[in-house]
Amino acid sequence: MRIRGLRKRYGDVDAVDGVDLDIPRGEVFALLGPNGAGKSTTVEILEGHRRRTGGEVAVLGADPGRPTRRWRARIGIVSQTSEERPQLTVRETVRHYAGYYPAPRDPDEVIKAVGLTEKAGARLSRLSGGQRRRVDVALGIVGDPELLFLDEPTTGFDPDARRQFWKLIESLAGDGTTILLTTHYLDEAEALADRVGVIARGRLVEVGTPRELGGRATAKAHVSWTGPEGPQTLETHSPTQVVAELSQKFDGEVPELTVTRPTLEDTYLTMIGAAR
Ligand code: ADP
Repeated sequence: MRIRGLRKRYGDVDAVDGVDLDIPRGEVFALLGPNGAGKSTTVEILEGHRRRTGGEVAVLGADPGRPTRRWRARIGIVSQTSEERPQLTVRETVRHYAGYYPAPRDPDEVIKAVGLTEKAGARLSRLSGGQRRRVDVALGIVGDPELLFLDEPTTGFDPDARRQFWKLIESLAGDGTTILLTTHYLDEAEALADRVGVIARGRLVEVGTPRELGGRATAKAHVSWTGPEGPQTLETHSPTQVVAELSQKFDGEVPELTVTRPTLEDTYLTMIGAAR
């Protein structure tokens, strides 16, 4: 996927304000940003569901501004709102969608892959929120897409459902599917993405691996402990040495010792704060 100078204006709002990005095949890329940052607009343009105001875009080698049926069949979309018929069962729904694609996956295998085999005969109206979202994913992958868009896939999930969902996404990624997901959950981006792009006010503020984002890997560590004079904290590039010295000083265990580096959340808040 290749994006150059992408713009989208709504009236006098620059929802997307000059985004450049390349996403290679097989990558899991997370677009992270606060509400209103431009994530959904960007993704909808890439999906061929929204017209852009400017810029050049190629998705699977084609311009999503002129989508063809064949091109659509190669991508999968899990959007925030879907309108399936609640009286149909999981199996009926997945089979129905499979019929839209030239070379679909086996519906029962897809149902298994999303962990809904036991619910295959249940009507959609009878499913929990998390199970309903799994149906959305099943419909997104039943066409056997090369590229999958996931827009805020786990919003409203409980922690257990999120972990299970992450496993599902990991297994899809393991099969070589390129995945572009949007999220405002940092832990989700960190758990799933090869690279993360932080978007704020329609601009990509930074792109990097979760580890290196915002200079995290090289940021100073905080070493804290409690000495005779009370709680102490030292910022350092060589925490191992500091701990070794402390260990000698205390002749063994250092009271209440912790070594921390900025979390992705610290880094992210600094980045979106700076973009305001
Ligand atoms: P995100 O997905 O990051 O929450 P969006 O892409 O939905 O952000 O929105 C980006 C900006 O564009 C926001 O300021 C939003 O209010 C505005 N916007 C989005 N869709 C429309 C629309 N259809 N008409 C007018 N403004 C819109």
